[in-house]
Amino acid sequence: MKKVDTIIVGMGIAGICYAETLHQNKKSFYVIDNKKTGSSKIAAGIFNPTVLKRYNMTWNGEEFHKNAIIFFKKIENKYKKKIIYNHDILKAFSSFSDQNNWAVASNKPVLKEFLDSKIHTKKIKGILTEFGYGLVKKCGRISTLNLINEFKNNLKDNYLNLDFDFSKLFSDNKKIVYGNIVAENIIFCEGYGIISNPFFKNLPVKGSKGEFLIVKIPNLNLNQIIKRSSIFIMPLGNEIYWVGATYDNSDKKNRPTQLKKEWLIEKLESIIMESYKIIDHKASIRPSTIDRRPIIGSHPNYKNIYLLNGMGSRGILLAPTLSCWLYNHIYKSSPIPKEADIKRFKEVNI
Ligand SMILES: Cc1cc2nc3c(=O)[nH]c(=O)nc-3n(C[C@H](O)[C@H](O)[C@H](O)COP(=O)(O)OP(=O)(O)OC[C@H]3O[C@@H](n4cnc5c(N)ncnc54)[C@H](O)[C@@H]3O)c2cc1C
Repeated sequence: MKKVDTIIVGMGIAGICYAETLHQNKKSFYVIDNKKTGSSKIAAGIFNPTVLKRYNMTWNGEEFHKNAIIFFKKIENKYKKKIIYNHDILKAFSSFSDQNNWAVASNKPVLKEFLDSKIHTKKIKGILTEFGYGLVKKCGRISTLNLINEFKNNLKDNYLNLDFDFSKLFSDNKKIVYGNIVAENIIFCEGYGIISNPFFKNLPVKGSKGEFLIVKIPNLNLNQIIKRSSIFIMPLGNEIYWVGATYDNSDKKNRPTQLKKEWLIEKLESIIMESYKIIDHKASIRPSTIDRRPIIGSHPNYKNIYLLNGMGSRGILLAPTLSCWLYNHIYKSSPIPKEADIKRFKEVNI
């Protein structure tokens, strides 16, 4: 028998952040991941605590942002591999009233740290900025691929690349047994894969499909992430850009579609004036919830079976702090903030 403190199911951002939290607290873990689906590996990985559509702060944005930077910096130092790429976000205004709204928002105490008050009018070669633009500071992206690969390389033999088999799980509220692994707790971090989890499948994780393009734009020399017309154009280096994403709550297939490809192309062409070549087109489902808040906590009938899910479109910002909340709840009996607590869904028969 192999003994660990925790079994983690799912090796996306949520599973990795929880595993790192355990590691920082000298606890052992075993990871089971089927590598089948998962939005983390294809996510843009952008961290930005502001909502640029409405010019306000996301829920707990300042705290999540601060914790995420510290957390990923620690991981970067541990693996000695670049994970954090700092980029300002260049918000191209869509009208003069958009420009005015920015000026007002950038003076709000809660947004001041991030929204630069200057309205820029200097033209940028290859980009349409007819109403000018503003800069969102202290943003960037996490290379989720580097993060996942480095994490996996360091797991050694504490990892199974398999579909979790629920018929092999035994729990008696004191211990968890799965095959030849014994643990105190099990944490499910399956993203949208939760819909097949018999313990948690009735929770309102509705899923939101996102599609994006990878394009080559040889004549664009961008170091900022462009935000305009509800999409991001993000530099990946070597003239390659990530362009997306779409939001679709009805289609739950992981396959990219021609319809959304055309929508993305239309948006891209309304922002850039350079020729480009499409290299790839991908899709995945974000684990979004009905009230747009994450879900953490234990199953009402099995106290050592836990959930860390519902990161929606902000996994990078949320997962480090939520992992800490869940860890403190399990090991220090700290209450889970009510907005994220699984107990808010007690009307749902889980
Ligand atoms: C197009 C797109 C762009 C995005 N861009 C951003 C962004 O810029 N910034 C941001 O913060 N967020 C972004 N997101 C959202 C982000 O991807 C999610 O918030 C985050 O990845 C969710 O992480 P997770 O670990 O909960 O789930 P996932 O990443 O889905 O990971 C779940 C893992 O569990 C595994 N799994 C599931 N079921 C089982 C099972 N039964 N047995 C074994 N393994 C299982 C899966 O294979 C997967 O590896 C984007 C999402 C999409 C779709």
